[in-house]
Amino acid sequence: LFLMCLAATIQAEYIKYKDPNQPVNVRVKDLMKRMTLAEKIGQMTQIERKHASPQVLKDYLIGSILSGGGSVPAPQASAKDWVNMINEYQKACLSTRLGIPMIYGIDAVHGHNNVYNATIFPHNVGLGATRDPDLVKRIGAATALEVRATGIPYTFAPCIAVCRDPRWGRCYESYSEDHRVVQAMTQIILGLQGDIPANYTKNFPYVSGKNNVAACAKHFVGDGGTQKGINENNTVINFHGLLSTHLPAYYDSVAKGVSTIMASYSSWNGIKMHANRYLITDFLKKKLGFKGFVISDWQGIDRITTPPGANYSYSVQMSVNAGIDMVMVPDDYPGFINNLTTLVNAKVIPMSRIDDAVRRILRVKFVMGLFDNPLPDYNLVDQLGNKEHRELAREAARKSLVLLKNGKSSKKPLLPLPKKAGKILVAGSHADNLGYQCGGWTIEWQGSSGRITGGTTILEAIKSTVDPSTNVVFSENPDAGFVKSNNFAYAIVVVGEPSYSETAGDSLNLTIPEPGPSTIQSVCGAVKCVVVIISGRPVVVEPYVPLMDGLVAAWLPGSEGQGVADVLFGDFGFTGKLPRTWFKSVEQLPMNVGDKNYDPLFAFGFGLTTKPRTAV
Ligand code: BGC
Repeated sequence: LFLMCLAATIQAEYIKYKDPNQPVNVRVKDLMKRMTLAEKIGQMTQIERKHASPQVLKDYLIGSILSGGGSVPAPQASAKDWVNMINEYQKACLSTRLGIPMIYGIDAVHGHNNVYNATIFPHNVGLGATRDPDLVKRIGAATALEVRATGIPYTFAPCIAVCRDPRWGRCYESYSEDHRVVQAMTQIILGLQGDIPANYTKNFPYVSGKNNVAACAKHFVGDGGTQKGINENNTVINFHGLLSTHLPAYYDSVAKGVSTIMASYSSWNGIKMHANRYLITDFLKKKLGFKGFVISDWQGIDRITTPPGANYSYSVQMSVNAGIDMVMVPDDYPGFINNLTTLVNAKVIPMSRIDDAVRRILRVKFVMGLFDNPLPDYNLVDQLGNKEHRELAREAARKSLVLLKNGKSSKKPLLPLPKKAGKILVAGSHADNLGYQCGGWTIEWQGSSGRITGGTTILEAIKSTVDPSTNVVFSENPDAGFVKSNNFAYAIVVVGEPSYSETAGDSLNLTIPEPGPSTIQSVCGAVKCVVVIISGRPVVVEPYVPLMDGLVAAWLPGSEGQGVADVLFGDFGFTGKLPRTWFKSVEQLPMNVGDKNYDPLFAFGFGLTTKPRTAV
């Protein structure tokens, strides 16, 4: 009898889904059959950090938490502060009846950009200019490690938008106007999630080990194709156009095991992507065979506005039935949960749809080892902003620069600049501004100005690169008289766009705001000058180009300004190629390579080269 009891106890205690030796599908199945509707709906619910508390997580059986842009536990929170917070949340989730771990997500879109003192890599437009997928993969791995250093296992990146109009405020989140460049850069997924193994099940989500994170290809689909580049607007294109321009990078992402895909705020031919069952379910899940989960964008389902009078319940119905698996609610989670529960009980949303969503979410959680290693690893905290990562960001910055003009005549190139030069002037609003250099999605959602985090400004980098005998004079906006009277050998002018993100960055004129143009005119009119443009996209420069002796597109190079000085002064050569068409005037927009009346100022793919000084 004793032995029988013992056997029964052992049997009762054996919980299949908790056994790491069981295959993922078996574990998912076993767990699913134990779950109530409330537990399932909880898995589909993602709430914002500011609403999370151990009690809320337990009461609502929440499956996921996010930090939206700039959402941090405390200003300048350390990696350890983050780990402490996530540890506390995770323990609450593990203490629920089934102990299902939550998955915490954040926008680490150019490095772990919400976190103070993380390494900030160039934004995607600059990475597109490098044409170096292996570099981008290494950036993915470095970013993953820094994200893990704060205890987080999931990033809402990469953005694989194909930006077809630079008036779009998110154009810098796009690697290129050309889908082939974007496709090549999906290599970042293998850096973020780890290399897929040989025995990998096709189209399955894949995340290897504790130093990698789940990735999210976004925003599905056509986000970069909206009319006039208006954010969240309508993308008017036939299916062939969608297939040939906006969908190819999703094929690559799915093949590389991307764990999650985020729906786009935008519409396709008038239908909100969050309600597009054909593209999400029939195409992405069935035809492409994507086995990870589809997440909504931030309040993305709330924006389903048709038919007139549509209310929140209708939004929940349309989006979940369309195939959204996890909803980034992120504020009114009781409302979301109530509505979804009512709709399922009323059979407006079939139970099979809920099961499909939960199966996908659990699959990702099992695959990435969250059930077996749910708690963050305190040993990684020192990896945030480490030296090798900063070195990598510096490499990326220098490879991302595109040299557009070198000398008034090609026979007399100005770059690379000599390090020994008597007296030089560094001017412009962006020369000594780390915030501008990093752009949007840095510390704050919109980004900001000034010394917002660790790193090196371009001015600091120039000072430490030139010969000690060279006198570097900095003046943000000098007048021509000052420049003329000072006997400078030349000047470096760094101007551009202020920081912005999403809709706030939409612009119909794409001009460099004042005093940028005046600085260019007063300096370049008085002395030999190189102009470095810090911007998320091509901007209006044509009127000033004749005044310039050199012109460099530096995009949003990130925290390591040293990369810019490296190429200006010839420690390395210029190698970057335009990832976008540089227009003459905004009246030409949209204008992309391959268009009929293609008449750019600098064509897609253009970029002059220089040799490193040692090789000159
Ligand atoms: C953006 C997404 C982002 C999400 C979470 C939204 O506003 O469109 O790209 O992942 O916020 O911060």
